[in-house]
Amino acid sequence: MADNCSHDCSSCKQNCSSRDKKSLLKKPHQMSDIKKVIAVVSGKGGVGKSMTCALLAAAAQDKGQVTAVMDADITGPSIPKMFGVRERASGSENGIIPVVTEGGVQIMSMNVLLENEAEPVVWRGSLISGTVLQFWTDVIWTGVDIMFIDMPPGTGDVPLTVFQSIPIDGVIVVTTPQDLVGMIVQKALNMAQMMNVPILGLVENMSYIKCPDCGRKISVFGESGVDALALEHGISAVAKMPIDANLTKAADCGNIENLNDNPLSDFLDKVMAQIKK
Ligand code: ADP
Repeated sequence: MADNCSHDCSSCKQNCSSRDKKSLLKKPHQMSDIKKVIAVVSGKGGVGKSMTCALLAAAAQDKGQVTAVMDADITGPSIPKMFGVRERASGSENGIIPVVTEGGVQIMSMNVLLENEAEPVVWRGSLISGTVLQFWTDVIWTGVDIMFIDMPPGTGDVPLTVFQSIPIDGVIVVTTPQDLVGMIVQKALNMAQMMNVPILGLVENMSYIKCPDCGRKISVFGESGVDALALEHGISAVAKMPIDANLTKAADCGNIENLNDNPLSDFLDKVMAQIKK
């Protein structure tokens, strides 16, 4: 606590132990209606966090939930491409209108704001955090049952701000078998626990490949340790997702909503059962 503490958290930026955690939460746009928020996190980039987020959103929309994706991965946004979204977000006098995919998922991402998608976002952390918060406060999200946030990878400044500012109902942690060995995933799990956000599920991506001839599962990186990790952290929903060229193709061609067999559909049911209580 600061020496000259006035006990008025609204005018103070310090994050001390006396601060009421709720005072850091930002209100969504007054015209928004968002029932549940799930953040998809990973200890590092390239493990399939965006793929997981997109598959979960596609599965939720398919199950009749009004679904949204907030792409908080400002410097590496890949959500619009996976959904085949080409148009730009529009604005009204009230706020920013998200783009809507063919299947009806509402999306806000840096890539639907940039004129040229290949333009790099070379910004400092505070500017990036500010933009993510604007996706929450200035975008009009309509009648959303479930919003997935594709978080930036790692445990830095931006994820911390998002955790503190947006009322998140739970997180899904994405990892790979090698990540498990390297303990990187532990950092993401510990961050969620430190922020008092329930961990709703664990996805081990690139867990195995399926032999195209006999269908046998081959664990390329050795036996999975994901079940033991889930047990250790009391996580009940676990998914093991294979390396599958059909997934890469669907993501690259913007067809993630049109997969015949969404590998995270059953996992989503287990996740939703925990937050519907
Ligand atoms: P992250 O968001 O963690 O940086 P992405 O979701 O963007 O990672 O995935 C990185 C790349 O790997 C993308 O090209 C994606 O299509 C591909 N990919 C992710 N998961 C799988 C998978 N299970 N099978 C095949 N390709 C995958």
